[in-house]
Amino acid sequence: MSPYQINQEGYYGEFGGAYVPEILHKCVSELQHAYLNVLEDPSFKKEFHQLLKDYVGRPSPLYLARRLSEKYGCKIYLKREDLNHTGAHKINNAIGQILLARRMGKKRIIAETGAGQHGVATATVCALMGMECVVYMGKTDVERQHVNVERMKMLGATVRPVTSGNMTLKDATNEAIRDWCCHPSDTFYIIGSTVGPHPYPDMVARLQSVISEEIRKQLLEQEGRDYPDYLMACIGGGSNAAGTVYHYLDDERVKIVLAEAGGLGIHSGKSAATIHLGKVGVLHGFKTYIMQDADGQILEPYSISAGLDYPGIGPMHANLAQRKRATVLAVNDDEAVEAAFELTRLEGIIPALESAHALGALNRMQFKPTDVVVLTVSGRGDKDLDTYLNYHK
Ligand SMILES: *Cc1c(COP(=O)(O)O)cnc(C)c1O
Repeated sequence: MSPYQINQEGYYGEFGGAYVPEILHKCVSELQHAYLNVLEDPSFKKEFHQLLKDYVGRPSPLYLARRLSEKYGCKIYLKREDLNHTGAHKINNAIGQILLARRMGKKRIIAETGAGQHGVATATVCALMGMECVVYMGKTDVERQHVNVERMKMLGATVRPVTSGNMTLKDATNEAIRDWCCHPSDTFYIIGSTVGPHPYPDMVARLQSVISEEIRKQLLEQEGRDYPDYLMACIGGGSNAAGTVYHYLDDERVKIVLAEAGGLGIHSGKSAATIHLGKVGVLHGFKTYIMQDADGQILEPYSISAGLDYPGIGPMHANLAQRKRATVLAVNDDEAVEAAFELTRLEGIIPALESAHALGALNRMQFKPTDVVVLTVSGRGDKDLDTYLNYHK
């Protein structure tokens, strides 16, 4: 049994599990029993892959970035999740979960969102399937991410602003869980990352694993071998990284480098570097590293990137970090913004601020000229233009 894979009880090492209130116990265990059967079902696979191809636009290109490679003295390929429909990797997971929801006979979809990317992906698939959609979003984020709120509304979703706590992602997630407790029988909760009670982290990782499935094929075609020397990705909750590394977890020839959000610096008090700063605890239904004070109160995370400011981290990644299978670097706001401008000027690709953290980690690496690096660009930067331009004033 691989130490990096999930076990029968829903744990990755000591992390994960399903810590849910009594009222959700039945629907979480129903999901635990259903998800693998559905995901492995040939007719599900057919429908899922057809939509990934015709609706999302997969496979996403694996692009050899020549000028970026020259700068860092190795061969850098970019996995272009930014080219997906709706602009990020989140749509892969949203499509998979709504197909599962339909097969389980659920009528109503709820979701949480921070920056709004997962909310938009969920509202999109609900429009596609003609299902009711309610998205919980912290009031602070509703104000900060106005365009995504308008997109969700146009797609027919109801956006519920959350006014508890700091009115951001953590509070939106609490509210979504509360809704789920009130409607456990007819409602499916589409979680946007590799977080939440088992089976969500494993389910989301499997749905995103199409990323590494494609990397294998594309590398074989372009490099004559199906594995890279390095895989690099940013981590908020961990879903684009999980998809990137999924088929290489047990292949120790492949080094894994994950970039979390350092914010203003890990010792500044304004950071979202959960793996560097967190202590083991339980949040939103699973055990992981959490940014908390001595009394176990959650510390409000900070990052320039709204998609990375979550106070926890997926249990798969907590385990990979603890076992040193992955190297985790904290990349600060200024490094991420600089890396985003660098990619834009060298390759003509404006990355999402989240993805820019993975790019910002390149500077810390020491590559050999023969190294093959695959870095996932999780999303496009259209939503971040104001932040980029204001930062550079
Ligand atoms: C949401 C988001 C992330 C962070 O989420 P993960 O689950 O860690 O992938 C990263 N990049 C983009 C573009 C996002 O929208």
